[in-house]
Amino acid sequence: MKKTFVTREKLEEITTAVPTPFHLYDEKGIRENAKAVKEAFAWNPGFREYFAVKANPNPTLIKMLGEYDCGCDCSSLTELMLSEAMGFAGNKIMFSSNVTPAEEYEYAAKIGGIINLDDITHIDFLEKTLGSIPKTISCRYNPGGLFKISNDIMDNPGDSKYGMTTEQLFDAFKLLKEKGAEEFGIHAFLASNTVTNEYYPMLAKVLFELAVKLQKETGCHIKFINLSGGVGVPYTPDAKPNDIRAIGEGVRKVYEEVLVPAGMGEVALYTEMGRFMMGPYGCLVTKAIHEKHIYKEYIGCDACAVNLMRPAMYGAYHHITVMGKENAPCDHKYDVTGSLCENNDKFAIDRMLPKIDMGDLLVIHDTGAHGFSMGYNYNGKLKSAEVLLKEDGSYQVIRRAETPRDYFATLDETPEYKKMFGND
Ligand SMILES: *Cc1c(COP(=O)(O)O)cnc(C)c1O
Repeated sequence: MKKTFVTREKLEEITTAVPTPFHLYDEKGIRENAKAVKEAFAWNPGFREYFAVKANPNPTLIKMLGEYDCGCDCSSLTELMLSEAMGFAGNKIMFSSNVTPAEEYEYAAKIGGIINLDDITHIDFLEKTLGSIPKTISCRYNPGGLFKISNDIMDNPGDSKYGMTTEQLFDAFKLLKEKGAEEFGIHAFLASNTVTNEYYPMLAKVLFELAVKLQKETGCHIKFINLSGGVGVPYTPDAKPNDIRAIGEGVRKVYEEVLVPAGMGEVALYTEMGRFMMGPYGCLVTKAIHEKHIYKEYIGCDACAVNLMRPAMYGAYHHITVMGKENAPCDHKYDVTGSLCENNDKFAIDRMLPKIDMGDLLVIHDTGAHGFSMGYNYNGKLKSAEVLLKEDGSYQVIRRAETPRDYFATLDETPEYKKMFGND
């Protein structure tokens, strides 16, 4: 059974002050996990996790990760700006973007971030933009084909828009070296949301072997290898959580087998996890406000896909707990829906749950990553607040909910806006 990190009593207290829906985060869980990640890779002196800001761009949470030596992995101008404002700069910033506008490279370089190039054509583009190539530079690799573990297909890099081919990577390193680069990194992201302890070690083997060849053939000094994201979390009740200590040990074994004998035992390892750092430590709290009995049974709640897009976008499973009914039999079959004028605005389809009464609080699990951050404003819906449940049991609003004024803010020069909100 999947448990909530918050009690019904606590939620009732929070909802007297903060109206539903909102995302709630678990400080204790975030801290314990960040510490475990740091310890799992402590054997590698240069190790750093660069938290993928896109997964959850809340400054309170990211600064918390910063206490465990995490940096920020950014892929856009505003993510870079936010990271800088939070006090991250220099080698604490990884810029793993694609289809990158010139001004974003300029900004990344200005704050001293490490630039990770998605394509070989970006070398000239970057040189033209900055006037020179940074001394430290990274390239993103795409081996093509299928990425398999034993006989399981994990993902299909051959179909993905990211990274350079093997041949391009060798050419890119040579070219970058000619243009003045001195320290090199390799990056690859080959499978998403993997719930197996084998993914990172398998990826590490591919990248470590490649690194040995690259250093030999090009003479480039490889300073770091970036395993990127893709370490998953158990969304369904039957899935087994990844064991980050086992993953760290698995990577260490490959490191000692491949890099150390090649005289590359100084190479630093980086990760850019988003989902694994935050996913399980957030939930979406919503209230059942309508029930409808037609050809199916529907429960309508005050959250919608704007607050959590993954079910609508990917058909993703998110577990639901009806607060106060944790031990009641799941003998009702419901579609749990939001209010968007889109029939895919459903958090659950044909889900067996306890009988839901109007006013019941529903907790939608595992929304800490790619939850709030994927939000949008369709149907004029507003983004929710974010609340932190602190280690001492108190809570803090760490982002207020949007108001209509926020929604209309980009119209502030128009007569309609002035009529609604005045001239101030
Ligand atoms: C999305 C992304 C990540 C994080 O992925 P998770 O699956 O959330 O760990 C890391 N790096 C890059 C370049 C990404 O695009």
